[in-house]
Amino acid sequence: MPFNFITLSRVDMPVSQAEGLKILERDQFCCKYCGLDGRASFDNALVMSVDFIMPRAHKGKKDPANLVACCRPCNMIKGKRVYKNFEDAKKYVLARREAMRQTWETKRSRPAAKTAST
Ligand SMILES: [Zn+2]
Repeated sequence: MPFNFITLSRVDMPVSQAEGLKILERDQFCCKYCGLDGRASFDNALVMSVDFIMPRAHKGKKDPANLVACCRPCNMIKGKRVYKNFEDAKKYVLARREAMRQTWETKRSRPAAKTAST
């Protein structure tokens, strides 16, 4: 769910600005999945949003208990899947991030290895 507390952009706006800000403040502007600190830098702030743990498409309620601060990359990785609970969703997101990181690191190391051998 895109909510941006800097630009206040609203692409698909199920949560009002005030409601979103309340959730971000409760969660100290940190992504509840990866821990990214939205206050650490402007770039971090730009990617902060609010996530519906149970997606709206699956009758997820607009209730603080169903909302968490979330960075856009984690939000994207989480997608529209349905999880048993927040912990289940978090486990999935962190595992996917780790798998993606390993893929990225493998690809990244190739050009460097080539340079080193010449
Ligand atoms: Zn995150």
